Amino acid sequence: MTARLDPDAIPEMILFLEQERAKGVRFLRLDPDLARAWVEGAGALDGGRFISAVAVPARVASSGAGVSAKRQALETLRAKALACAKCPHLARTRTQVVFGVGNPEAELMFIGEAPGADEDRQGEPFVGRAGQLLTKVILAMGMTREEVYIGNVLKCRPDVETPSGNRKPTPAEMATCLPWLREQIGIIAPRVLVALGDTAVKGLCSEISTGITRLRGKWLDFDGIPLMPTFHPAYLLRNPSPIIKRQWWEDMLAVLEKLQRPITEKQRGYFRSIATPHGES
Ligand code: SF4
Repeated sequence: MTARLDPDAIPEMILFLEQERAKGVRFLRLDPDLARAWVEGAGALDGGRFISAVAVPARVASSGAGVSAKRQALETLRAKALACAKCPHLARTRTQVVFGVGNPEAELMFIGEAPGADEDRQGEPFVGRAGQLLTKVILAMGMTREEVYIGNVLKCRPDVETPSGNRKPTPAEMATCLPWLREQIGIIAPRVLVALGDTAVKGLCSEISTGITRLRGKWLDFDGIPLMPTFHPAYLLRNPSPIIKRQWWEDMLAVLEKLQRPITEKQRGYFRSIATPHGES
């Protein structure tokens, strides 16, 4: 007998299973009566092995006590995104969808362009060397990685010929994926967005053609939320020039000011001795 799975049920099932796993559940027993109810509820019998979404939302709802509305909404969205195959070439080659990570109530959200090999493997954005640098900068800003939210414009790793290589997402790929991010931002409703790198800025604001060196440090707007364009941390790793570091840090200070966060003299002083040539930005 072949088992059938209702495609519409997949996101709800993933959500339910992930919530159970988060609670420490490692094995699930399927209650035969519950399974029968699912089958009958769906009106589609297949040897008692058809799994429907009908009963799952009730279970999900009952396990959501104490979870914030934003967290719940994000988890529902995440479950849907994990099953996304709008880009068949990426759905075929990805290890997993890299949805995003962090505080659903975050005031600040960092947005990169797409997962690389490390992120694809671990399912979390910014976990490689660039991610470590981003984490350091967040700490220097007086926050923690858990306090902010981190995501990408594209949620699947761009396909490449070699397992370790990375490529930039295309404008078409980013436009296809953007609705997921837009919905994510809509739920979190951060006070400030930071776009990391030229590709991320173009993915968010497709009408912009100016390069990141001229654009950085100047506030943009995304769906009514202030958006700070700045360098991608990978760019700083490739170009560890003191001037670039200072410019990046100035952008972060502007973000702290926008968030009305206190800035210490020590924070203001980072790289202060470095002259920023006018017109570099
Ligand atoms: S990149 Fe985005 S839109 Fe494309 S398959 Fe992945 S999640 Fe879906």
